Amino acid sequence: MKGILATLITVVLSGVLCGATFAKPDNVEGVNVPQGRIPQEIKDNKYPRTYYPNTERLAKDEMRITAIGTGMPNQSPSNVAASFLVELGNGDAFLFDLGTGATDRLAGLEVDYSKLDKVFASHLHTDHVGDVASLWVSGWLNGRYTPLHVYGPSGATPELGSKAHIDHLRDAWAWDVTSRAGTLPNKGGEIVAHEFDFSKTAVIYDKNGVKIKTFPAIHIRDGSVSYRLDWNGLSFVFGGDSVPNKWFAKEAKGADVVVHECFFTPEQWMTIAGFPYKEAYWVTSQIHTPAEAFGKLMSMVEPRMAVAYHYWNHRDIELEIFERVRKTYDGPLTMSDDLTVLNVTKDHIEVREVTFNHESWPMGTSKEWDTAPRSEPATGLMSDWLNKGKLEGMVPAPTQSIE
Ligand SMILES: [Zn+2]
Ligand SMILES: [Zn+2]
Repeated sequence: MKGILATLITVVLSGVLCGATFAKPDNVEGVNVPQGRIPQEIKDNKYPRTYYPNTERLAKDEMRITAIGTGMPNQSPSNVAASFLVELGNGDAFLFDLGTGATDRLAGLEVDYSKLDKVFASHLHTDHVGDVASLWVSGWLNGRYTPLHVYGPSGATPELGSKAHIDHLRDAWAWDVTSRAGTLPNKGGEIVAHEFDFSKTAVIYDKNGVKIKTFPAIHIRDGSVSYRLDWNGLSFVFGGDSVPNKWFAKEAKGADVVVHECFFTPEQWMTIAGFPYKEAYWVTSQIHTPAEAFGKLMSMVEPRMAVAYHYWNHRDIELEIFERVRKTYDGPLTMSDDLTVLNVTKDHIEVREVTFNHESWPMGTSKEWDTAPRSEPATGLMSDWLNKGKLEGMVPAPTQSIE
């Protein structure tokens, strides 16, 4: 009896392990989803109250906007730094900013990393681009076999621009990236900067029916921008950090979903961060947009949905910010926190929260990733004396061919 039980356990366990070894995502209409998870079509706007990642199929004419991070450069577990993910019914995906901590949230969402190859940076503060290196490498390990493209503004001088930022990032991570050469697809290890003139209003991306326009923002120094995405008659506007400005008022006018920062009061920032009043006023009201100003701007812009972010959603803070917004704006409003999700079609906007599994696994790499060209594994990266320090006989021999 014991023998039969042991055999059964062995068979079941080896089945589980074999399954895990060969886990591959399923491809549903061009988007990879975790194996066995079949996204359902949503009919008549009957969305489940909670959004569970990879359980819902985007309609052909639908846009899904997920607030990945909505917080600050100083860390809070409740709100990681700025990042919004826009997914379209045509299978495209776009990241607007990728602040510190954002890639943890992307992992929880069990995203298709092969799609996350475009980041549009509003400016070069860590709370807007601090996780670019993390996505560059983690996305590469998790299924991206093409370069990561980073679109970002110029600065006052070339060394303050996005190209210099990415060039230095590439140099800074040379140890990391070159150590993986040969094991991972070559192209996935590339990061490409697309720098544009921050002072111009211009279309900087136009592919597959998606147009993305940049326009100037006013935030401390030259080199901050905001974006507008247009696709299939739907529009999404993403405000990078800025005081209210004329370019935003013009470009966001009447858009479907308009995301803009909406900052703490000086008194809140003094209480939370311990800043003296002068510094707190500068941060909250002279380089950022206070709640009353956010409300006035949205009253001018009149979006189908206004989205406020860039504060911590602790109840005592959020309620006061909300009340101040309502003094100057009475239209549709979402006080966004991390993992607020908006489904947008021409006749409906659904606002919900994402719930994800905190023990989520990557969905596994695709066949395309497996077979993408690789160079020969790097050799000569280690000194002979170091290599000779290995203890022999420690590592089990391979059980499959590694030729
Ligand atoms: Zn910021
Ligand atoms: Zn900033």
